[in-house]
Amino acid sequence: MKRRIIVSVICIFIMLMTGCNVSVNVPSSSGVSDTSIVEHKVGDYSQKMTDDTAKQFGDELSAFEITAEQRKLAANNEAGYPELDAGRGNPNWINTKVRSAFTRLMDFANEECRLAMENKDMAGHGNKDGISERFDNFMNEEDEIDSFLLDAVSHCEKELGMDRDDLLFEFSNGIIGDYYPDPSRCLENTEKILNEYITSTLFNGKTIEGGTDIFPTEGGSAAMCYVFHSLNHNHVLKQGDKIAIGTPIFTPYLEIPDVNDYGLVSVDITSDKEHNWDIDPDELDKLRNKDIKAFFLVNPSNPASHALSSQTIEILKDVMNDNPDLIILTDDVYGTFVPGFESVYSAIPHNTILVYSFSKLYGVTGWRIGLIAMNSDNVVDRLISELPDEDKKDLEKEYCIAVSEPDKLKFIDRLTADSRSIGLYHTSGLSTPSQIFMDIMALSHTTYEEDEYIKTANAIINERYCALMNALGLKADTANDNARYYALIDINALICDKYGEDFAKWREDNISDIDFLNDLAKKKGVVLMYGPGFDAPKGNVRISLANLNTEDYVQIASRIMELLDEYYEEFEDEEGKKAA
Ligand SMILES: *Cc1c(COP(=O)(O)O)cnc(C)c1O
Repeated sequence: MKRRIIVSVICIFIMLMTGCNVSVNVPSSSGVSDTSIVEHKVGDYSQKMTDDTAKQFGDELSAFEITAEQRKLAANNEAGYPELDAGRGNPNWINTKVRSAFTRLMDFANEECRLAMENKDMAGHGNKDGISERFDNFMNEEDEIDSFLLDAVSHCEKELGMDRDDLLFEFSNGIIGDYYPDPSRCLENTEKILNEYITSTLFNGKTIEGGTDIFPTEGGSAAMCYVFHSLNHNHVLKQGDKIAIGTPIFTPYLEIPDVNDYGLVSVDITSDKEHNWDIDPDELDKLRNKDIKAFFLVNPSNPASHALSSQTIEILKDVMNDNPDLIILTDDVYGTFVPGFESVYSAIPHNTILVYSFSKLYGVTGWRIGLIAMNSDNVVDRLISELPDEDKKDLEKEYCIAVSEPDKLKFIDRLTADSRSIGLYHTSGLSTPSQIFMDIMALSHTTYEEDEYIKTANAIINERYCALMNALGLKADTANDNARYYALIDINALICDKYGEDFAKWREDNISDIDFLNDLAKKKGVVLMYGPGFDAPKGNVRISLANLNTEDYVQIASRIMELLDEYYEEFEDEEGKKAA
C-alpha cells in the first residue's frame, strides 16, 4: 500500500513540474472543493481509468498522458539502459518508391508548366495537348521509378479505362497544386484509383454493388471528426441516441470533444481473449435493438490487433435484418496487415461508412492522408430523406448557400461541405498534391500482380511479434486474423505462469498496473501502453510492434522479466519475514 502512495506522489509531482495537464483534485476558484469527475456520456472511455492509482489522479488521465510521463522516466532510467519506447503506433518504416515517384512526377509537372511560360522561378500552367507524348519522352524506361510511373499510367488506361491525356493532366495539375480541388470532394480519376485500391486491399477483390464514393481527408482522425459532426448536424445522430462501441478500442476517437457535446449514450460490444479478440455472437445480439443507432468499430482492432472472423461478419449481416437502419462506422486502417482481409463495408455496403488511412502501411503519418468511403446507395441518405419536414427545411436552408438543389445533396458531399462550415464548400477537399500522392501509393499496390511491399511490412511485424512472444515464453498467435501490429499482453497471466498464483496475488495487491508500467520506465527504460486506457481488462499492456527493431523486442521481454524477478525477491523477503 505504502509503495503505491509514494509512486503516486512522485508522479503528481512530476506532472506538476512538467505542466502536464492533469486534473488533480484542487479547490476551485469558488472555494468549494471540486472533486467531481467530468462525466463523459459516451462510454466514459475518454479518460477511462480503472486502476486504483489512477483514481488518485482524479480519473482525468488518459493512457496517452500516462505514457508521456513514462517517456520522461525512461530517458533517465536507473539501469542506464537505452530507452525502448514501444508505446507508439507510428511505424519506423517508410516507403521510398512512392516518395521518389512523387518527386519525379513533380519534376515532370514543373517542366510542363515551363512550356507555357518561363521567367526564372516563374512558370505558367501546363497544357493537356500532347501531354502523353511528352510524359513518355520525359520518363526513362530503364529507371526503376520512371518505369513504375509508366506502368502505373498504362495500368489506369487499360484496367480502369482512363484517358491517358486526361489522367496525366490531372496528375500534373494536381501535383503542382495551383487549382482548388475540383470536384472539391475528390479528383475524378483519383476516386477511381482509390476505389481499385480499397477493393484490392480491404474488400478482398469483391466488386461492391452500387459503387463507392470517396472523400479523401487529412488522415483517419479528420475522417472520424467529419463523420461524427455531419451525422449530428444532419439530425441522424441526436442527443440521447444510443451508439454501440466495439471495445477495447483506440480511445482518441472517442475523445473528439464534439462527441461529448452530442450527448450520445454508449453501449459496449466487447471482445476478449477467450474469443481470440473476435466479437462473441451474444454481444452482437445487442445490436438487434433498434434503439441502437450506430455501431463504431476498429477492424482489425486496436489495441487487440485482430480482424473480425467471417462468421462474425455473417452474424452482423443477420443483425441488420432486425435493425435495418443501423449505421456502422468501420475504421480499417490496419486492414492491409491481415492477408485476405475483408471489411464490414464489403459485406454490408449500404449501412457502412468506411474510414481508411495510409498512415501506417506507407509510413506517412506526417502527411495526414486518409479517406471516407460510402456506398452510393446508403442508409444515411435514406434517413436524411425521411427526416421530419421541419428538419429537412432547416438543412435545405443551410446547404442552399453551397448548392442549388440542397435536398439532393448526398451525405458524403454534406461531409465535404460541413468540413468547411458549408459556406466555404467551394474551397473544401484535401490538397491536390496529397490526392496525387494517394494515387501513387494506391498504384504502387494495384499496378502489378504482386505487392512485395505489403508482404515485407507483414513479414517485419511478424518477425518482431514472434521474437517478443518467444522471449516472453508465450505462445504466438499465428492465426491469419492476427494483424500483429500490436501485441496485447496479459501481465497477470504471465506472472501466474512463471511464478505461480501466490505471487500473482501479492503483485496485484501491492503493485498496480500503473506502478508496474512506471517501474518499467523508471528502472528499465521501457515504455509500454496501459491496456485499461483502451478499455482492455486490467493487467493488460499494449506493445506496439511498429516502431522498434526485432532485437529491441527481445530486450523488452528480458527487461520485463528482470523487473518481475525483482518484485519476486521483494515478495519472498516479505514472506520470509512473516514466517520468522
Ligand atoms: C493510427 C490509427 C489511425 C490513423 O490515423 P491518421 O489520422 O490517419 O494518422 C486511424 N485509426 C486507428 C484506430 C489508428 O490506430
